[in-house]
Formats: sequence, structure tokens, C-alpha cells
Amino acid sequence: MEILPTDDRSRASWLADVAFFIRAMSDERMAAVVSRLPRAGVPGILDRMEVVVRPGAALWLFLPPRRRRPEIVVPYDGSSSLGHVVQALGIPLTEVQPPVVDGTRSGRLHDGAVIELAPPPRPQPLPDGARFLLDVHLGSLARRLRLLGIDTAYENEADDADLVERAGREHRVLLTQDRGLLMRRALRAGAYVRGAGADAQLADVLDRFAPRLAPWTRCSACNGELADVPKAEVADRLEPGTLRCYERFSRCRSCGRVFWRGAHGRRLDAIVAEALRTRPS
Ligand SMILES: [Zn+2]
Repeated sequence: MEILPTDDRSRASWLADVAFFIRAMSDERMAAVVSRLPRAGVPGILDRMEVVVRPGAALWLFLPPRRRRPEIVVPYDGSSSLGHVVQALGIPLTEVQPPVVDGTRSGRLHDGAVIELAPPPRPQPLPDGARFLLDVHLGSLARRLRLLGIDTAYENEADDADLVERAGREHRVLLTQDRGLLMRRALRAGAYVRGAGADAQLADVLDRFAPRLAPWTRCSACNGELADVPKAEVADRLEPGTLRCYERFSRCRSCGRVFWRGAHGRRLDAIVAEALRTRPS
């Protein structure tokens, strides 16, 4: 459809009106209008470049509410990398598969390109195995993962640079709810943990990575491995009631703490049972 004026009305004045309306429009309306205008000749208005992004619904939580749609249009400066465009939307690259551009993974960005974003597959393969480092705010999740026998490093004090460095050095996946941390260039492997409480977060991590479970084999305090220990060897460190009620004990090879099933209470028994129900070891 031809929408430029063909009579003697001033083209310049008409274009100024168009520019005014374009600025007041949503991304989607703007894209629809701009796509029908000639591209050349009006710097700063009609030569604006854009790309279309189609984020899978599982990624919408990273977007501001007004952008939570199957298709959004974003400005493109002609030189930004694909990764930059994705992260500028608020989506860490750890949370997407290699993007598909114009239907192919080898596609290059250009004005009008269509970028499809999907979250990683679940379960997501982990080249170095299920070894995690948790952000300082995820202490409850750390204890739960250890309870299930999953190798989980955690300290309640570490700055962002420390976390990124340690994750790389120890080949661990950094788990966090801080998107800025996941966008750090030096980060080798990371993942955003979904969920407001430790139970939901645990369910998310188990669902995403399907780690092998080995409940009651790891120290919930320090991540050390537990070894069975004869009752007599630890008797002097236990309350009489514990000695009476339990027969099997284990001790942390790293910190020496003594464990028995009852030490964790019914609440943790329930966590283990639930994890095994949804993801057998
Ligand atoms: Zn320990």
C-alpha cells in the first residue's frame, strides 16, 4: 500500500507528523508502520533499524511486563552482537540456547532480522557433571542440595568476582538469582534459579539438571563426603537419647561432624522423599 502523499502536500510536513505518531506508539505498532515506509532519505526517523525478538514464554520472567509477548521489536544499532541484543533485554545468555536468526543458528544480525529465543533443554547436560557453586543468598538451597548428595560449594560471604572466579577454577555451575552476575563476561557456566523459597528452588534445579541423587552421603554443613562410622567410635559425642534410638552413624571426612538420619528431622526426610519421588537416584 502506498501511504506517502502523492498530491502537493509537503512531504516534509507529512513526515514530521508521522515521526510524532511513531514516537507515541508501542514497539509493535511502530514496527508495523515503519515496515510500510521507505527506508532511505530521512535520517533519524525512517532509517531506524530494528530486529524482531521472539522469546519463548519460559523467558518472559526476565522481561519487563510490557515486553512479555511472543514477539517484540527492539532497536538495532547495526553493529551490536547477538549476545548483546539478548542481554540488553534482560535475558542472561546462560538462560537461552544458541539463538536462531532468520530460521538458522548461523544467521547474522541485520535490520529486520527475526531472533528466536528458547530456554535450554531440560534436563540440561552438564559437561563437568553436576557440581554447583551457590550465590550467597541461597544458603537454604545449598543445604538441601548437599542433603541429596549433590556437590554444592557455598559460602555466605563472597563478592561477585570471587564467585565467578571460583566457579571457573573449580568447574562448577554458578547458581544465582542475580541476573547481573550471570551476565558477567568471565562466567563460564551459570544458571538462574527460579522460585521464591528453597523448596521451589530445589525443584527447579532438580528439574533443570536432573543431577544424580545420593541422599545422606554429603555433609550439609561443609559439603564434605560422609563415611559410615561404628556407633562405639562416636558414642561419646552423642546424647543418650540419640544413642538409644539410632544404630547407623556417619561422619564427615572434612569437618568431623557426626550424622544420623534423625539428626535432620522429619522435615528433611520429607525433602529427600519428595526429591526421590520426582527424580529417582
Ligand atoms: Zn562437614
